[in-house]
Amino acid sequence: MRLDGKVAMVTGAASGIGKRIAEVYAQHGAAVAIADLNLAGAQAVASELVAQGAQAIGIAMDVTDERAVDDGVDAIVERLGGVDILVSNAGIQIVNPLEKFSYADWKKLMAIHVDGAFLTTRACLRHMYARGKGGAIIYMGSVHSKEASKLKAPYITAKHGLIGLAKVVAKEGAAYGVRANVICPGFVRTPLVEKQIPEQAKEFGISADEVVKKIMLKDTVDGEFTTLDDVAACALFFAGFQTNALTGQSIVVSHGWYMQ
Ligand code: NAD
Repeated sequence: MRLDGKVAMVTGAASGIGKRIAEVYAQHGAAVAIADLNLAGAQAVASELVAQGAQAIGIAMDVTDERAVDDGVDAIVERLGGVDILVSNAGIQIVNPLEKFSYADWKKLMAIHVDGAFLTTRACLRHMYARGKGGAIIYMGSVHSKEASKLKAPYITAKHGLIGLAKVVAKEGAAYGVRANVICPGFVRTPLVEKQIPEQAKEFGISADEVVKKIMLKDTVDGEFTTLDDVAACALFFAGFQTNALTGQSIVVSHGWYMQ
C-alpha cells in the first residue's frame, strides 16, 4: 500500500505512536507534517525523515488552540501542497477515581482529545473539500473507545466520543470522497503508558509488575503489549484504502483484549 504524492498531517507525532505512524507514512511515499506541542521534538522527527530522503516538516501546534490549528494547517498546505491524510493522535492520560477528579483535569483531557480532534478535522476538511481530491481522517481511539477501566473517566468518555465524530465525518465527507475511521489500540509501551504504571501501582496499592500483568495485559490472549508497528500498520491501511467502502469504522488492535 503506497502513499506516493499524498500529504499527511500527524498530530502528537514527536513521540510514541504518532512518531511511528509518521515514519511509516514517509517510508510509503507520503510527505509528512509532524504537528506537536513539542516543536523541538517535531523538528527532530522531521529531520530524521528528511535525512532518510523523505519530505517532512515539523510544526508547533497545540491542538486545543483554534488559531494555532487553523494557521498550522494553512502552513502545511502552503509548504507541502495540500493535506490528504489527517491522523488526529495527540493525547494525554490523567488517572484518578471520579470522586477525586478535578474539573480542571477533566477539561484539560477533553480539550486535547475531543476539541483537538474537532479543530484539526474542521481545518483539514475545509482544505480537502476545496481541493476536491478526497481524503482520509484517522482518529487515535483506544480499546477505551469500547471498554471502560477504573480511574480513566475523561479518557474513556473522550475515546468513546471519537467514534461518534468519525461516523459524522464519514457521512458528511462521503460526497467529497473523505473517509473517517478510528484505530483502537490496546496498551502500547510509550511514555504515556510508562507514566501510568507507577501511578496505578500507587492508586491500587500493587507493584508495577502487577499493574502490567494483572491490569494492563490481563485480558489479552497472549499477555503481550500491542506494538508501535501494529498500530502504524492499521494507520497505513486506513490511509491507503481507496474507496468509501471503508468509512465510519473502528478497528481494535489489542491482542484480543477487546473482541467485538
Ligand atoms: P506519547 O505521550 O508518547 O505521545 C503523545 C504526543 O502528543 C506527545 O508528543 C505530546 O507532546 C503530544 N501532545 C500532547 N498534548 C498535545 C497538544 N495539546 N497538542 C499537540 N500535541 C500534543 O503518547 P502515545 O502513547 O503515543 O499516545 C498517542 C495517542 O495514542 C493518544 O491519543 C493516546 O490516547 C492513544 N493511545 C495510546 C495507547 C498506548 O497504550 N500508548 C493506547 C491506545 C491509544
